[in-house]
Amino acid sequence: MTDKQQWVTEKWQDVETRYRIQSVLYEDNSEFQHTRIVDSDRYGRMLLLDGIVQTTEKDEFIYHEMLVHVPMLSHPNPEKVLIIGGGDGGILREVLRYKSVTMATMVEIDPGVIELSKKYLPSINDGSFEDSRVNIIISDGAVFVKDTTEKFDVVIVDSCDPIGPATVLFSKAFYGDIHNLLAKDGIMVCQTGSLHMQPGEQVETYNLLSEIYGYARPYVFTVPTYIGGLFSAMFCSDDINPEKNDLSVIEEKAAMNNIKTRYYNPGTHIGAFHIPGFLKERLI
Ligand code: SAM
Repeated sequence: MTDKQQWVTEKWQDVETRYRIQSVLYEDNSEFQHTRIVDSDRYGRMLLLDGIVQTTEKDEFIYHEMLVHVPMLSHPNPEKVLIIGGGDGGILREVLRYKSVTMATMVEIDPGVIELSKKYLPSINDGSFEDSRVNIIISDGAVFVKDTTEKFDVVIVDSCDPIGPATVLFSKAFYGDIHNLLAKDGIMVCQTGSLHMQPGEQVETYNLLSEIYGYARPYVFTVPTYIGGLFSAMFCSDDINPEKNDLSVIEEKAAMNNIKTRYYNPGTHIGAFHIPGFLKERLI
């Protein structure tokens, strides 16, 4: 009996993950990547780029909250924020919650991802692209950070995995250019992949970032639809050591900004930097 149901499969080397879906809402190749948006039973609408799950309606809050509130609540007064990638608008939505933010610049290489996210993923971007503080630049993020003379308080690199157009977003030159555009107390965070399925990403970025920034610290959280579940990011700064963050100070700032979240809280913030032993061993 053939399986009448529709499925979408994500393949990562020797592992496949299947999601039962109701329909494919969009599928095509852009100049940069293969883009697909499906309606899945368990996770709602999902965006896949080059076959890899980027974000889903049901669990996007975890990644977007942890990539935004960890740096934003560690910074004394974040006003100018730069997002590299982030075409689905989830990072932008969370950044715009801060009254201190006067400008959020998003540099996205593929305008199609933004347009499709507006059309098919409104629950994720929640109208953030229309906010008057937003400045959308269609460009390769690596070119932008090399050429810009602007300074930023927080930079969030929300890129795909280091394949296709995102490969340059994992290079020493790219991280060095971001270092040069950080203002005093500046913070950069970037996703560094799945602990179980992409161990090399943590090691390579940690080694590169440790050469460039005074502090380069991994932090860990769980995203069900990112292959292997246990996911990582790097917190980088010359002035702010995330491991010295005081719980009560973060609690006060979160309350002051009236940040309403479902995964992030000051406890998960502090806890995320208490990384598993096997990751520590990998990085030393
Ligand atoms: N949260 C996802 C993750 O952790 O894998 C990333 C989601 S977001 C959709 C990734 C975005 O990075 C995409 O919109 C893609 O077009 C964009 N991107 C890839 N390479 C880029 C580059 N060189 N410059 C700017 N944006 C890029």
